[in-house]
Amino acid sequence: MKPKVYQITAQSRSFVYDSGLMGKFERFLERFDVRRYIPEDELVPVKMHLGNNGAFKTIRPQFVKKVVDALKKVPAKPFVTDSVRVPGYEYLEIAQEAGYTHLTLGAPVIMADGIFGNDTIKVYAGETLGEMAIASAIHDAKAMVVLSHVKGHIQAVLGGAIKNISMGGISAAPRGGDWHQGRGKMHFLMGEIMQWDETKCTLCLDCMNVCPVDAISFPDEVYAVNKDACWRCGRCARVCPVEAITVPISHEVFMKAVAEGANAVLKTFEPGRVLYINFLLEMQPECDCMPIADPPVAQDQGILICDDPVAIDMATLDILSKVSPLPDSRASGLIPKEGWDILSLLHKKDARLQITQAERLGLGSSQYELEIVS
Ligand code: SF4
Ligand code: SF4
Repeated sequence: MKPKVYQITAQSRSFVYDSGLMGKFERFLERFDVRRYIPEDELVPVKMHLGNNGAFKTIRPQFVKKVVDALKKVPAKPFVTDSVRVPGYEYLEIAQEAGYTHLTLGAPVIMADGIFGNDTIKVYAGETLGEMAIASAIHDAKAMVVLSHVKGHIQAVLGGAIKNISMGGISAAPRGGDWHQGRGKMHFLMGEIMQWDETKCTLCLDCMNVCPVDAISFPDEVYAVNKDACWRCGRCARVCPVEAITVPISHEVFMKAVAEGANAVLKTFEPGRVLYINFLLEMQPECDCMPIADPPVAQDQGILICDDPVAIDMATLDILSKVSPLPDSRASGLIPKEGWDILSLLHKKDARLQITQAERLGLGSSQYELEIVS
């Protein structure tokens, strides 16, 4: 049987609360059989990306609260979490500024790999990655709800459910600091460090300023990286306006690694214990890790719910293959291409490779049944 993907549409039918997206989401969660996935009295991570300074287009706290409320009715003990993406203490402060607090959400907000970002357990991911360090609060949980703000990503192309569990469920800097078992390995499977082209560099220092661990310096105007401190997050390469920094990775290898990372995280759960919710709202071109929020590339498409990460991301891409680029966004002027979604067109790489690789590993099905909730 094909997995069912529910799509709660973004449009309101009237001015009545229940006809708007928030009301429809709340009613859907009331009717939906959450208990089928979530055991009673268990601690349940609500895995999401908490954003960054300046990245304010993440999932609005009101939606997260609805999920927390639904989990409490099971009754379960939800906590909202992500692994450390900027140092843990600062990341929690970013979360608080974005409105993700115990007070607003009704559940604790914690770092899944601890305040130091090194509380992890090693799990074999696959032939490309080997063993990876899974955030312990995710590893030790019996069930999980994955909330993904759909957006673009420089290498994964689609930031959806698969990327969220993979790059977000794996720690950046496992205990001992060996990046080879952290999420940075996904970016750096084909080399140890970034390459810098001195002839292109304008010394703007954007790379230095974006680095979450202050690993970059320019002694005598020469790019230098503290290799021990570097998380291999690749952000310095992304922000360089003249492409003077490059990360040695191919699209194919990266997509395979992302799928393997998701595999490692999902292996820690019994089948049927993870629920996925994709928010196709305020879909910006880049990852929420970046310290900016750009105009959305397409109009809101609502919320998808499914128990299969491959199906929900496939449905997301299918929906994004039919949207029109929004004016004044980075997608403006893109020419539609048969079978290509707007994020793949924008990043000039095929996001479906992520789906293919995840399906190859048995993480789910790209064939699905769509049910519209309007
Ligand atoms: S990859 Fe670049 S931005 Fe990321 S930690 Fe290393 S030096 Fe800093
Ligand atoms: S962002 Fe690029 S151009 Fe600017 S200092 Fe860094 S390497 Fe040079």
